[in-house]
Amino acid sequence: MIDSHCHFDFDVFQPDRLQVWRRCMESGISNLIIPGVCKSQWRPLAVLVDSHPGWYAAAGIHPWWVAKETGPSGGFADAAQLGLALAEHLSQNHCIAVGECGLDAAVDTPIEIQKAVFKAQLEVASELKLPLILHVHRAHNELIKLLKQFHLPRGGVVHAFSGSEQLAMDYWKMGFYLGVGGTITYTRAAKTRHTVSQVPLESLVLESDAPDMPLSGRQGQRNSPENLPLIAAELAKLRAVPLQEIADKTRINTEMLFSL
Ligand code: ZN
Repeated sequence: MIDSHCHFDFDVFQPDRLQVWRRCMESGISNLIIPGVCKSQWRPLAVLVDSHPGWYAAAGIHPWWVAKETGPSGGFADAAQLGLALAEHLSQNHCIAVGECGLDAAVDTPIEIQKAVFKAQLEVASELKLPLILHVHRAHNELIKLLKQFHLPRGGVVHAFSGSEQLAMDYWKMGFYLGVGGTITYTRAAKTRHTVSQVPLESLVLESDAPDMPLSGRQGQRNSPENLPLIAAELAKLRAVPLQEIADKTRINTEMLFSL
């Protein structure tokens, strides 16, 4: 299995990162994809994945970090400068995608500022022909409108997808896979559980989003990529197919998306 979205470089994994990774491998996880979130983290992340076969990095500005990057003490004068810095990093380091980037209506940063930063990243993905790792929260319509303005030859993934079957299919038709994570272990997430049981298996990839998105019953704990088999098992149950089929197909989907 591949964890298509995991913040394994975060400090919370510092004390026992290699022990966690060993347990991941023992439970059938072969690869981790670690998204970028802000400029100061891109280079250390690239160095980290270089020393661990099976780990891959992406680079981008996460909506939660936009205020820091564009504020008075931030690294960038404007979105154009941010785009240049991102393109430069991507050309000098091995990165498999642009992201994590997108729009989040639940954070304080004005949506217009988020859009400018997101558009700069869409441009880079289009130019460098890289897939996108998208973070979208309560902003699907605005985000889809922006995706349609850019030629994105490789599509991407809507990480931690939650929503209706219709919305999922809208993304899939635009070339975007759907990231399935711990949300589906909560019975109250009825709509998302229904969606992932109905859409084509070809459209789904697995993710832990660790250290966030703890599974049901584990709220308040550090989430870990080693929980991925539990998410796969829940998806197998919802789709009434063998676990092995979920593991195999979602791995192939992730390899196709990111050209692994
Ligand atoms: Zn993330």
